[in-house]
Amino acid sequence: MPLEPFDRICHDIARADLRVCEAPELASLSLPTQYFLREFYCTESGCDCRRVLVQFMAHDPLFQAGVTINYGWETVKFYNKWIRDPKLAREAAGASLEPFAAQGPHAGKFLLIFKQLIEDPTLVALFRRHYQLVKKITDVPPGRGSKLHDLW
Ligand SMILES: [Zn+2]
Repeated sequence: MPLEPFDRICHDIARADLRVCEAPELASLSLPTQYFLREFYCTESGCDCRRVLVQFMAHDPLFQAGVTINYGWETVKFYNKWIRDPKLAREAAGASLEPFAAQGPHAGKFLLIFKQLIEDPTLVALFRRHYQLVKKITDVPPGRGSKLHDLW
């Protein structure tokens, strides 16, 4: 499924909702201790996968955290309904390292930090809100090729 950065789809909202996350524990590894989360959402019309891909970005654009996290906020039961594979459904629910992305040496540490962050229900609500926004923009009614046709 195609994934696109939220800041490219809803630039102003992404800016307004930007959160800085503090990770003081990374100082001992000589890594930056401040990050913002870059969100990627699926833009496939009709797909209701209810997940976000998250990357940690430091203020220094040259620094690569080297981590891509998959996070699904629904239950395993929900994902199993459309994945129909209990193992994959378990991976889709909750936070895990994205198996199709290259992960850097500290990916596991960032995953732990992310798991702490999503204990904050307002952050989870923010992901859900952003997901809904993206779906509103990218979902095309069945039988239509593209939203561009609405102009004609
Ligand atoms: Zn999807």
